[in-house]
Amino acid sequence: MDPRPKHYCGVFGIYGHPNAAEISYYGLYALQHRGQESAGIVSTDGEKFYAHKGMGLVPAIFDGEVLHKLIGRSAIGHTRYSTQGSSNLQNAQPLTVDCAKGKIAIAHNGNLTNAAALREELEAKGSIFQTTVDSEIILHLLAQPERIGGHESSLIEALHRIEGAYSLVLLTERELVGVRDPHGFRPLSLGRLPDGAYVLASETCAFDLTKAEFIRDLEPGEVVIIDDNGLRSIKAFPEAERRAFCIFEYVYFARPDSNIAGRNVYQVRVEMGRQMAREHRLDADIVVPVPDSGVCAALGYSLESGVPFEMAFVRNHYVGRSFLQPSQFVRDFAVRVKLNLIAELVRGKRVVIVDDSIVRGTTSRARVASLKDAGAKEVHFLVSCPPHMNPCVYGIDFPERNKLLAANYTVEEIRKFLNADSLGYLSEEGMVKATGLPKNHFCLACYNGDYPVKFDPKMDKHIIERRRARTSGLGPELAVEERQQRLL
Ligand code: SF4
Repeated sequence: MDPRPKHYCGVFGIYGHPNAAEISYYGLYALQHRGQESAGIVSTDGEKFYAHKGMGLVPAIFDGEVLHKLIGRSAIGHTRYSTQGSSNLQNAQPLTVDCAKGKIAIAHNGNLTNAAALREELEAKGSIFQTTVDSEIILHLLAQPERIGGHESSLIEALHRIEGAYSLVLLTERELVGVRDPHGFRPLSLGRLPDGAYVLASETCAFDLTKAEFIRDLEPGEVVIIDDNGLRSIKAFPEAERRAFCIFEYVYFARPDSNIAGRNVYQVRVEMGRQMAREHRLDADIVVPVPDSGVCAALGYSLESGVPFEMAFVRNHYVGRSFLQPSQFVRDFAVRVKLNLIAELVRGKRVVIVDDSIVRGTTSRARVASLKDAGAKEVHFLVSCPPHMNPCVYGIDFPERNKLLAANYTVEEIRKFLNADSLGYLSEEGMVKATGLPKNHFCLACYNGDYPVKFDPKMDKHIIERRRARTSGLGPELAVEERQQRLL
């Protein structure tokens, strides 16, 4: 199978509402697409913290009884996909600390690029970590006793130590805090419920479900502190020379019903499809999306080119695992069980198939094969972004460079591998143009290799676990997961 790149995480926060935990639950429900491995909510009544975390999907982790025990008028929540550290309950967020400065809970979306070095430094000073996720480093920095002043100055100081991608929500007994890194890699938006309670969320689709009104996106480098006195904003960093919002949020990650930087994601994707039609004119009978990721771009292609749009692939949303023995039949089965093709729509036709990316290529090849098996006369594959040539060090879980198809083969070689009649990618200029924003607004590193923030070249999802295993004498012959089980 060709796993799609996975999201980082989704974060949500609310201050001053009698049903804070329940609203956080709905917020996380709307942000489920950003992480499906674990989820958690921490609430506070101004004195104590109340926490519940679990593995799996939000509705499976929380029910009425659990939410009832999450007392208080403020809460933060998190849905996780593991981009740093293994997927287990220990690493589920929000993380909490009880230190001399009081209680602090954190939920983090993104990846710190200097996490391993910072962790080594903190451990050398005596910090004892409970997890192997980079987000805990921020808690330890906040809890450092030598940090003078209250939460506010500790926070600003801590933010100046960490590097990379982070949108954070933090909870103390008396405050909800939202933070966006100085480059603005990940989204974070501010909203307000009809009764006046402020909410923070990774995406605006979470506001729609909670009936919150969108106020604005947090600026890169901005900290907002919400307490009983209202909301105040701090510019924690000077205006970054370059913004680096992850353009792949527009291409694939964000929900189409979210708005980012004043642009609706659905409309941007349709425009990407239109732009693709301008760049790749094809004589075709129908345009077919790979659902759900290719739907908006295929629609845009159809609107611009006049080629009729057909939903020839039907997605089965209720796919379990296969228990059959490995064989060609099973491999095909694994692809077909998720998407089934309506052969009558494609038989004898010249088909344009549209997807948002080709990462390893195996699934894309299977889609072409099923179209040809069903009798399609020609199959033209279009991708609504440029080729992915580089891994992402800011938390998106792309494979390493040696497993990225486009990093190792020419477009013509990939076309042959897919067995398509033609293959076309949206250009970098076309992709940026479709957003209506300037190029220097974005991170484009996985396409062009221009990484906006420096990073440890050895960095990957398990770097902290590997260093931890090394320093504790557990041999490299053990798998990371196994070493971690023995460490915990
Ligand atoms: S490298 Fe790619 S996926 Fe990662 S933040 Fe940059 S644009 Fe997004």
